[in-house]
Amino acid sequence: MRVLVIGSGGREHALCWALAASPLLSKLWCAPGNPGTAEVAENVPIGVADIAALVRFAAGNAVDLVVPGPEAPLVVGLADALGLAGIACCGPSAAAARIEGSKSFCKEICDAAGVPTALWERFDDAAAARAFVRRRGAPIVVKADGLAAGKGVVVAASVEQAEEAIAAFMERRALGEAGRSVVIEECLIGEEASLFALCDGSTALPLGTAQDHKRVGDGDTGPNTGGMGAYSPVLDEEGVEAAMDGIVRPVLAELARQGTPFRGVLFAGLMVTTEGTKLVEFNVRFGDPECQALVLRLQSDLLPALQAACDGELAHFDLRWRDEVSIAVVMAARGYPADPVKGTEIRGLERAAAVPGVTIFHAGTDRRDTKLVAVGGRVLTVCATGIDLPAARDAAYRAVAAIDWPQGFFRRDIGWRAL
Ligand code: AMP
Repeated sequence: MRVLVIGSGGREHALCWALAASPLLSKLWCAPGNPGTAEVAENVPIGVADIAALVRFAAGNAVDLVVPGPEAPLVVGLADALGLAGIACCGPSAAAARIEGSKSFCKEICDAAGVPTALWERFDDAAAARAFVRRRGAPIVVKADGLAAGKGVVVAASVEQAEEAIAAFMERRALGEAGRSVVIEECLIGEEASLFALCDGSTALPLGTAQDHKRVGDGDTGPNTGGMGAYSPVLDEEGVEAAMDGIVRPVLAELARQGTPFRGVLFAGLMVTTEGTKLVEFNVRFGDPECQALVLRLQSDLLPALQAACDGELAHFDLRWRDEVSIAVVMAARGYPADPVKGTEIRGLERAAAVPGVTIFHAGTDRRDTKLVAVGGRVLTVCATGIDLPAARDAAYRAVAAIDWPQGFFRRDIGWRAL
């Protein structure tokens, strides 16, 4: 099979790494990729937003399967455009991707499917939104309805904070059109977990669970980031099956019933509360760095599973997982997330990768002459597997310590909730 992976982060390096191990693979490209993907695939200089160029490349190179990493191209119709060209894409149509692209659509689907989620209401009018917040009191959650690259959610501890979010999203349009309307919802209290499922339109197969660490600093302090680390698994088999039956499968059935069947990776952000597990949000792709942690535990060949999702054949499929725990520690450039320093040299990667159980994925790196330099915010994901979380963690942090990069930083407490 000839496969094209789309994206340039640690997630896409991990996908390329897993796909490259498949005996079914004949050729692997990554657009645009990074120096890590270049080790296992051929990088193609096309950006993730250039749908026309991606389709042209896939058609011109007889690509059998496209595997998108990020949500942005899916929300604007990458899978639809590939479909018209007769190319399989392991990701949803734009219509089905609205489950991530529109918070209110997600909530409507949940309500129609009878899936437990925070009580909510949608507002197009800032005055009405304010009145609702004052009536309900804090804590309360204000969400921009549209896609806002992780910046559209404010968990407000006070009414003033919620009103400020309403003003920023709806009146000052800090997030552009994404904040034209908002969803305001009940604040859920509990432990967060992410459940990933591979879907073929009607059947969903669990791909594992993980917990990420969004804040930049130890002990969950400081600003939000794309994710500073993850570990897997976080739910036992019983918990996974309960969430699959109570949340993922009913939503999949509802999407199909509405004529927008979901194909690809459905990422359910869950809150395990005292009243049971509730849905916080859906994403339409793997998380980064959760993906890196998940693929390390996958024993089966990923490629036929993704193909089966495209072919509607998952009902006959089974995936096997290693009985191990995995961890992913992100190394970021100093100043991230606000203003990461660029162009600094990274040394010692080979030594770090030689630590038993360790795999290192690239994100914001570049090769300049013989040097590896940091060119982005999140730069490396240092991953490890082990018989339990302490073993995996020790291996990962031993590898991190072997990396010579004074201008990089990382969280020292990945997995702390579980530990
Ligand atoms: P989302 O983009 O919807 O995943 O929201 C980002 C983060 O905000 C989630 O991972 C949660 O930590 C938090 N969050 C979102 N909705 C709620 C809610 N209803 N109650 C508590 N926390 C929430």
